[in-house]
Amino acid sequence: MENEAEKRWGFEVKKELNRAREAEVAALRYASVSLMESVDKNDPRPVIPLGHGDPAAFPCFRTAAVAEDAIVDSVRSSMFNCYAPMFGLPLARRAVAEYLNRDLPYKLSADDIYITLGCMEAVEIILTVITRLGAANILLPRPGWPFYESFAKRNHLEVRHFDLLPERGWEVDLEAVEALADENTAAIVIINPCNPCGNVLTYQHLQKIAETARKLGILVIADEVYGHLAFGSTPYIPMGVFGSIVPVITLGSISKRWIVPGWRFGWLATNDPNGVLQKSGIVGSIKACLGVRSGPSTLIQGAVPQILEKTDEEYFSKIIGLLRETADICYDKIKEIPCITRPNKPEGSMFIMVKLNPSLLEGINSDMEFAVQLAKEESVIVLPGIIVGMENWLRITFAIDPSALEDGLDRMKAFYYRHARQEALNL
Ligand SMILES: *Cc1c(COP(=O)(O)O)cnc(C)c1O
Repeated sequence: MENEAEKRWGFEVKKELNRAREAEVAALRYASVSLMESVDKNDPRPVIPLGHGDPAAFPCFRTAAVAEDAIVDSVRSSMFNCYAPMFGLPLARRAVAEYLNRDLPYKLSADDIYITLGCMEAVEIILTVITRLGAANILLPRPGWPFYESFAKRNHLEVRHFDLLPERGWEVDLEAVEALADENTAAIVIINPCNPCGNVLTYQHLQKIAETARKLGILVIADEVYGHLAFGSTPYIPMGVFGSIVPVITLGSISKRWIVPGWRFGWLATNDPNGVLQKSGIVGSIKACLGVRSGPSTLIQGAVPQILEKTDEEYFSKIIGLLRETADICYDKIKEIPCITRPNKPEGSMFIMVKLNPSLLEGINSDMEFAVQLAKEESVIVLPGIIVGMENWLRITFAIDPSALEDGLDRMKAFYYRHARQEALNL
């Protein structure tokens, strides 16, 4: 037998190809893994995860009892053991249409809804559809959600970034949007309530976005995965409200509002009362894309009508109250850390973007160095802004247990005082 070290197998991964693949893998996931690796294994304190948004790990963010019962009922009914149709079970599509219709001036039908494996798959599908338009480009927000870049890169789709403006409550820089768009621009992506900025866009601003998109002749892709998670003074308005101005593709899921990201149930909805998407072939292309994938488990699809229809106000207000409380803690505690400034108080989603001033720190020159060193010394994970497109900013998740959040931010403050430049302390 050949020596094990010399044996050549037919399935060795080519190093160059693997590197290309790594570049394609979302920076977000890569960053959180590598920051976790920086944590000192001998630190007896718990790791405080302020880097990513998964409150499901904390008992206070447990989902609605109705949702848990719905899953059990779905299993026990033995009605959901077959393969699901390509676009999802009709009863799930109908339930999502009715859920979205509560906030719309017109009615979506079950045929306007495509069931996906979380919102993530809806993002992947729509970006693939855009790629199939030919030499198209897409306008993405900066800061944004890095998986859009990842899917665009994988599809060789050209990305152009417009800024969200901190001095204007993170509104879209609409002048920049007009300047960036050309005859090959297919769509603009809006994330509202916003990950990573924690703002909620007003009715007036959403209308302006719709009017700008109409003028440019481009589609609006509205990522509303944080839909209804608004706890400030600006109410959440779905972009679909402006569907008669411009066709809107809404992406959503139950992951965030019901705090069950592992259940993997999402949707893509075509808000198109004028039939533009049908005529332009986008609907056909969405259907073609969905033909070559497997979709979410029928057990969750079967449970969704009960989850969407029966979850009571009490659960929703508990979650909203908790997010408001943790957002307040986060906003107040950050004020005590001189090297960080806060442009806005969060009004929605689970995040705040804050500005880091590395010049106040000794030996720490960037957001990345700050995050790595903080993980090492304090076992606190925050996301460097560079990952979401803004260098020397940080994205902080407040959707965790309130006492853990306080603990994490106290550790961050202690970290600042340990590393502050003498001149900064004397100011
Ligand atoms: C979490 C998130 C998603 C993905 O949602 P899933 O339902 O978990 O797949 C999509 N977009 C944004 C902006 C998110 O924060």
